[in-house]
Amino acid sequence: MTLTLLYRGDLSSCNYACHYCPFAKRQDTREQLAKDKADLQRFVTWVGQQQCNIAILFTPWGEALIRGYYREAIIQLSHMPQVKKVAIQTNFSCSTTWLKHCDLEKTAFWITYHPNEIELERFIATCQQLDRYQVRYSVGVVGLKTHFVHIQQLRKALAKHIYLWVNAYKREAHYYSSADIQQLLAIDPHFENNNSYHQSLHSVCATGESVISVNGAGDITRCHFIKQKLGNIYQQPFTDYLKPRTCSNANCGCHIGYIHLEKLQLYPLYGEGLLERIPNSF
Ligand code: SF4
Ligand code: SF4
Repeated sequence: MTLTLLYRGDLSSCNYACHYCPFAKRQDTREQLAKDKADLQRFVTWVGQQQCNIAILFTPWGEALIRGYYREAIIQLSHMPQVKKVAIQTNFSCSTTWLKHCDLEKTAFWITYHPNEIELERFIATCQQLDRYQVRYSVGVVGLKTHFVHIQQLRKALAKHIYLWVNAYKREAHYYSSADIQQLLAIDPHFENNNSYHQSLHSVCATGESVISVNGAGDITRCHFIKQKLGNIYQQPFTDYLKPRTCSNANCGCHIGYIHLEKLQLYPLYGEGLLERIPNSF
């Protein structure tokens, strides 16, 4: 079995100022960053002590790769034999040079392009550097209508083999016309999966069985959306908490959650690219 860990520490700051995000230009204090670093290093040490196969997706609030200690953690984790995949959600505004220290067979990125924060040419230059490293990554955009022109430009500029996902803007009901949806489906054939809140109450979900969320203190919840604490990785064997479960929420609308809903059958679609959001076909 491979245990998938969704790690989200205390970090909640970002170098970008996206107007649709609560972490825009937020800053952590020096003390908060020091604690986040210590928590992360403790987590890395813990992973190194485990016997089972492990896959990790970092899902930070804010941007983590601008912090050297996250880059160092990914380097270390990628070289651990029991770690089969280490991936992170990022804006990838940092340099790519550190990648030469990673095991690139096991490192992957879920990258979001924010058109108001970086010029397309600069973003594409980063993607081309990633292509030279032959590292796996997906690229995505928040599907605001003001982004449509940027999405088209990005698709044209991005290498054809790179999957471009679009996250549906769901804060406004009936935001998209059918013509909008057709346009977005032409970019991302899996857009409709994201453009809905999937009914999940009582449905089987792998979180809490083969997938768990872990915070900086080591507290385990089954996912980021159900806050009931199941235990703590530093206090008890995590296997004490793993069992088949059904969802207790009415619905699930976030990719990092609903991909684990059994009834949606998204594991066969994403296969090895599950954590970095790269489907087998697009
Ligand atoms: S890059 Fe991501 S975390 Fe940073 S402000 Fe934009 S949406 Fe928020
Ligand atoms: S369906 Fe979503 S909210 Fe429900 S348990 Fe799974 S990840 Fe959590």
